[in-house]
Amino acid sequence: MVNSKVHRWGTAESLISHMDRHNISSSFVTGFAFRDQGLCRIMNDYVLDAASRYRGRIVPLAVVSPCAKGASEEILRCAELGAAGVGELFPDGQELDISDAGQTWRMVGTCMEAGMFIMFHTAEQVGHQYVGKGRTGATEAAAFCMNHPQARVVFAHFGGGLWAYESMPEMKLALSNAYYDTAAWPWLYDHRVIEGIFASGAGNKILFGTDWPILEYPRYETIVDRTSLTEEQRSLLLSKNAQDLLARTKKSAGDL
Ligand SMILES: [Zn+2]
Repeated sequence: MVNSKVHRWGTAESLISHMDRHNISSSFVTGFAFRDQGLCRIMNDYVLDAASRYRGRIVPLAVVSPCAKGASEEILRCAELGAAGVGELFPDGQELDISDAGQTWRMVGTCMEAGMFIMFHTAEQVGHQYVGKGRTGATEAAAFCMNHPQARVVFAHFGGGLWAYESMPEMKLALSNAYYDTAAWPWLYDHRVIEGIFASGAGNKILFGTDWPILEYPRYETIVDRTSLTEEQRSLLLSKNAQDLLARTKKSAGDL
Protein backbone atom coordinates (compact mmCIF):
# COMPACT_ATOMS: atom_id res chain seq x y z
CA MET A 1 0.00 0.00 0.00
CA VAL A 2 2.81 2.38 0.90
CA ASN A 3 4.13 1.99 -2.66
CA SER A 4 0.77 2.67 -4.31
CA LYS A 5 0.09 5.95 -6.10
CA VAL A 6 -2.77 6.96 -3.80
CA HIS A 7 -0.81 6.58 -0.57
CA ARG A 8 0.13 9.69 1.42
CA TRP A 9 1.27 10.30 4.97
CA GLY A 10 -0.13 13.26 6.88
CA THR A 11 1.62 15.28 9.56
CA ALA A 12 -0.03 16.84 12.60
CA GLU A 13 0.90 20.32 11.37
CA SER A 14 -0.60 19.81 7.91
CA LEU A 15 -3.76 18.34 9.47
CA ILE A 16 -4.21 21.29 11.83
CA SER A 17 -3.75 23.79 9.02
CA HIS A 18 -6.28 21.86 6.90
CA MET A 19 -8.73 21.88 9.83
CA ASP A 20 -8.19 25.63 10.38
CA ARG A 21 -8.82 26.32 6.72
CA HIS A 22 -12.13 24.43 6.77
CA ASN A 23 -13.43 25.35 10.25
CA ILE A 24 -13.04 21.87 11.70
CA SER A 25 -12.68 22.01 15.46
CA SER A 26 -11.51 18.46 16.16
CA SER A 27 -10.66 15.23 14.39
CA PHE A 28 -10.14 11.60 15.32
CA VAL A 29 -6.66 10.68 14.14
CA THR A 30 -5.31 7.21 13.51
CA GLY A 31 -1.92 5.90 12.45
CA PHE A 32 -1.57 3.08 9.98
CA ALA A 33 -2.27 -0.38 11.40
CA PHE A 34 0.80 -2.42 10.55
CA ARG A 35 1.13 -6.15 11.18
CA ASP A 36 4.36 -5.42 13.06
CA GLN A 37 3.65 -4.38 16.63
CA GLY A 38 6.83 -2.24 16.79
CA LEU A 39 5.69 -0.15 13.81
CA CYS A 40 2.25 0.24 15.43
CA ARG A 41 3.98 1.59 18.52
CA ILE A 42 5.87 4.17 16.44
CA MET A 43 2.52 5.27 14.93
CA ASN A 44 1.02 5.59 18.40
CA ASP A 45 3.92 7.60 19.79
CA TYR A 46 3.53 10.11 16.95
CA VAL A 47 -0.27 10.40 17.17
CA LEU A 48 -0.30 10.64 20.98
CA ASP A 49 2.42 13.28 20.97
CA ALA A 50 0.51 15.26 18.33
CA ALA A 51 -2.65 15.01 20.44
CA SER A 52 -0.82 16.42 23.45
CA ARG A 53 0.53 19.29 21.34
CA TYR A 54 -2.93 20.04 19.87
CA ARG A 55 -5.13 19.19 22.83
CA GLY A 56 -8.81 18.98 21.96
CA ARG A 57 -8.14 19.36 18.24
CA ILE A 58 -6.64 15.90 17.72
CA VAL A 59 -8.48 13.02 19.38
CA PRO A 60 -6.03 10.13 19.18
CA LEU A 61 -6.75 6.49 18.34
CA ALA A 62 -4.22 3.71 18.89
CA VAL A 63 -3.21 1.00 16.44
CA VAL A 64 -2.08 -2.48 17.47
CA SER A 65 -1.43 -5.75 15.74
CA PRO A 66 -4.35 -7.46 17.52
CA CYS A 67 -2.94 -10.98 17.84
CA ALA A 68 0.67 -9.91 18.50
CA LYS A 69 2.31 -10.37 21.87
CA GLY A 70 2.00 -7.17 23.89
CA ALA A 71 -1.06 -5.82 22.04
CA SER A 72 -3.15 -5.56 25.23
CA GLU A 73 -0.33 -3.79 27.08
CA GLU A 74 0.01 -1.34 24.20
CA ILE A 75 -3.74 -0.62 24.24
CA LEU A 76 -3.59 0.13 27.96
CA ARG A 77 -0.45 2.29 27.55
CA CYS A 78 -2.20 4.34 24.86
CA ALA A 79 -5.40 4.60 26.93
CA GLU A 80 -3.35 5.99 29.78
CA LEU A 81 -1.92 8.61 27.38
CA GLY A 82 -5.38 9.64 26.21
CA ALA A 83 -6.32 7.41 23.25
CA ALA A 84 -10.09 7.34 22.80
CA GLY A 85 -10.23 4.16 20.78
CA VAL A 86 -8.32 1.48 18.92
CA GLY A 87 -8.19 1.62 15.14
CA GLU A 88 -8.47 1.88 12.25
CA LEU A 89 -7.37 -1.74 12.34
CA PHE A 90 -6.82 -3.42 8.99
CA PRO A 91 -8.03 -7.04 9.30
CA ASP A 92 -6.75 -8.32 5.96
CA GLY A 93 -3.34 -6.66 6.23
CA GLN A 94 -2.97 -7.70 9.86
CA GLU A 95 -4.21 -11.25 9.31
CA LEU A 96 -7.09 -10.83 11.73
CA ASP A 97 -10.42 -12.60 11.17
CA ILE A 98 -12.87 -10.32 12.98
CA SER A 99 -15.59 -12.98 12.79
CA ASP A 100 -13.50 -15.36 14.93
CA ALA A 101 -14.09 -14.65 18.62
CA GLY A 102 -10.97 -16.66 19.45
CA GLN A 103 -8.92 -13.92 17.78
CA THR A 104 -10.82 -10.90 19.06
CA TRP A 105 -11.92 -11.59 22.65
CA ARG A 106 -8.72 -10.44 24.32
CA MET A 107 -8.57 -7.14 22.47
CA VAL A 108 -12.28 -6.48 22.99
CA GLY A 109 -11.95 -7.15 26.73
CA THR A 110 -8.98 -4.79 27.01
CA CYS A 111 -10.77 -2.03 25.08
CA MET A 112 -13.86 -2.32 27.24
CA GLU A 113 -11.82 -2.19 30.39
CA ALA A 114 -10.05 0.92 29.10
CA GLY A 115 -13.25 2.62 27.91
CA MET A 116 -12.26 2.59 24.25
CA PHE A 117 -14.18 1.87 21.10
CA ILE A 118 -12.72 -0.24 18.28
CA MET A 119 -12.63 0.75 14.64
CA PHE A 120 -12.11 -1.69 11.79
CA HIS A 121 -11.47 -1.15 8.10
CA THR A 122 -14.30 -2.82 6.18
CA ALA A 123 -15.18 -2.73 2.50
CA GLU A 124 -17.87 -3.70 0.03
CA GLN A 125 -17.87 -7.41 -0.84
CA VAL A 126 -19.02 -6.45 -4.35
CA GLY A 127 -17.90 -3.73 -6.75
CA HIS A 128 -14.56 -2.51 -8.05
CA GLN A 129 -11.23 -3.54 -6.57
CA TYR A 130 -8.73 -1.06 -5.14
CA VAL A 131 -5.47 -1.15 -3.20
CA GLY A 132 -6.14 -1.91 0.44
CA LYS A 133 -9.77 -2.94 -0.10
CA GLY A 134 -9.48 -6.37 1.54
CA ARG A 135 -12.16 -9.02 1.88
CA THR A 136 -13.52 -8.09 5.32
CA GLY A 137 -17.02 -6.72 4.87
CA ALA A 138 -20.58 -6.80 6.13
CA THR A 139 -20.60 -10.57 6.78
CA GLU A 140 -17.59 -10.53 9.12
CA ALA A 141 -18.61 -7.24 10.71
CA ALA A 142 -22.06 -8.62 11.59
CA ALA A 143 -20.45 -11.73 13.10
CA PHE A 144 -18.18 -9.49 15.22
CA CYS A 145 -21.23 -7.63 16.56
CA MET A 146 -22.98 -10.87 17.45
CA ASN A 147 -19.84 -12.23 19.16
CA HIS A 148 -19.29 -9.02 21.14
CA PRO A 149 -22.63 -7.33 21.83
CA GLN A 150 -21.07 -5.11 24.52
CA ALA A 151 -18.18 -3.78 22.41
CA ARG A 152 -18.65 -0.39 20.82
CA VAL A 153 -17.39 -0.63 17.26
CA VAL A 154 -17.01 1.60 14.22
CA PHE A 155 -16.91 0.01 10.78
CA ALA A 156 -15.10 2.29 8.35
CA HIS A 157 -16.22 3.00 4.79
CA PHE A 158 -19.95 2.57 5.53
CA GLY A 159 -19.30 -0.87 7.02
CA GLY A 160 -19.10 -2.28 3.51
CA GLY A 161 -22.88 -1.77 3.30
CA LEU A 162 -23.73 -3.33 6.66
CA TRP A 163 -25.90 -0.33 7.59
CA ALA A 164 -28.52 -1.48 5.04
CA TYR A 165 -29.38 -4.41 7.32
CA GLU A 166 -30.34 -1.98 10.11
CA SER A 167 -33.82 -2.03 8.61
CA MET A 168 -34.20 -5.75 9.44
CA PRO A 169 -35.60 -5.95 12.99
CA GLU A 170 -33.30 -8.75 14.19
CA MET A 171 -30.24 -7.10 12.66
CA LYS A 172 -31.09 -3.71 14.15
CA LEU A 173 -30.86 -5.44 17.51
CA ALA A 174 -27.66 -7.33 16.63
CA LEU A 175 -26.05 -4.11 15.37
CA SER A 176 -27.03 -2.01 18.40
CA ASN A 177 -23.43 -1.12 19.19
CA ALA A 178 -22.25 -0.64 15.60
CA TYR A 179 -21.33 2.71 14.09
CA TYR A 180 -20.23 3.44 10.53
CA ASP A 181 -18.06 6.11 8.94
CA THR A 182 -18.04 7.85 5.58
CA ALA A 183 -14.30 7.62 4.79
CA ALA A 184 -13.59 7.39 1.03
CA TRP A 185 -17.21 8.34 0.25
CA PRO A 186 -16.43 10.20 -3.03
CA TRP A 187 -14.68 7.11 -4.39
CA LEU A 188 -17.39 4.65 -3.40
CA TYR A 189 -20.95 5.99 -3.45
CA ASP A 190 -22.92 8.93 -4.77
CA HIS A 191 -24.54 11.47 -2.44
CA ARG A 192 -27.77 9.49 -2.00
CA VAL A 193 -26.17 6.79 0.15
CA ILE A 194 -26.45 9.06 3.18
CA GLU A 195 -30.18 9.56 2.63
CA GLY A 196 -30.52 5.76 2.60
CA ILE A 197 -28.68 5.55 5.92
CA PHE A 198 -31.05 8.04 7.56
CA ALA A 199 -34.04 6.26 5.99
CA SER A 200 -32.87 2.91 7.39
CA GLY A 201 -32.84 4.31 10.92
CA ALA A 202 -29.04 4.35 11.23
CA GLY A 203 -28.74 8.14 10.99
CA ASN A 204 -27.58 8.42 14.60
CA LYS A 205 -24.74 5.94 13.96
CA ILE A 206 -22.95 7.47 10.99
CA LEU A 207 -19.69 9.33 11.66
CA PHE A 208 -17.97 11.75 9.35
CA GLY A 209 -14.71 10.15 8.15
CA THR A 210 -12.50 11.36 5.31
CA ASP A 211 -9.36 9.25 4.82
CA TRP A 212 -7.42 12.55 4.88
CA PRO A 213 -4.76 13.22 3.52
CA ILE A 214 -5.69 10.94 0.62
CA LEU A 215 -9.00 12.80 0.30
CA GLU A 216 -9.54 16.35 1.53
CA TYR A 217 -12.52 18.03 3.17
CA PRO A 218 -13.84 20.07 0.18
CA ARG A 219 -14.62 16.85 -1.74
CA TYR A 220 -16.96 15.89 1.09
CA GLU A 221 -18.48 19.33 1.45
CA THR A 222 -19.50 19.20 -2.21
CA ILE A 223 -21.11 15.79 -1.80
CA VAL A 224 -22.90 16.69 1.47
CA ASP A 225 -24.26 19.85 -0.17
CA ARG A 226 -25.87 17.71 -2.88
CA THR A 227 -27.87 15.69 -0.32
CA SER A 228 -31.29 16.57 1.00
CA LEU A 229 -30.22 16.23 4.64
CA THR A 230 -31.89 18.58 7.12
CA GLU A 231 -29.76 20.87 9.30
CA GLU A 232 -30.31 18.49 12.22
CA GLN A 233 -29.21 15.47 10.15
CA ARG A 234 -26.12 17.35 8.97
CA SER A 235 -25.14 18.11 12.51
CA LEU A 236 -25.60 14.45 13.53
CA LEU A 237 -23.31 13.42 10.67
CA LEU A 238 -20.67 16.12 11.15
CA SER A 239 -20.38 16.19 14.93
CA LYS A 240 -23.16 15.02 17.23
CA ASN A 241 -22.88 11.30 16.49
CA ALA A 242 -19.14 11.36 17.20
CA GLN A 243 -19.67 13.21 20.49
CA ASP A 244 -22.36 10.69 21.40
CA LEU A 245 -20.03 7.76 20.64
CA LEU A 246 -17.34 9.18 22.92
CA ALA A 247 -19.78 9.85 25.75
CA ARG A 248 -21.38 6.40 25.54
CA THR A 249 -18.06 4.57 25.36
CA LYS A 250 -16.81 6.33 28.49
CA LYS A 251 -20.09 5.71 30.28
CA SER A 252 -20.13 1.96 29.57
CA ALA A 253 -16.55 1.66 30.90
CA GLY A 254 -17.70 3.42 34.06
CA ASP A 255 -20.53 0.88 34.42
CA LEU A 256 -18.17 -2.14 34.32
ZN1 LIG B 1 -9.92 1.95 5.71
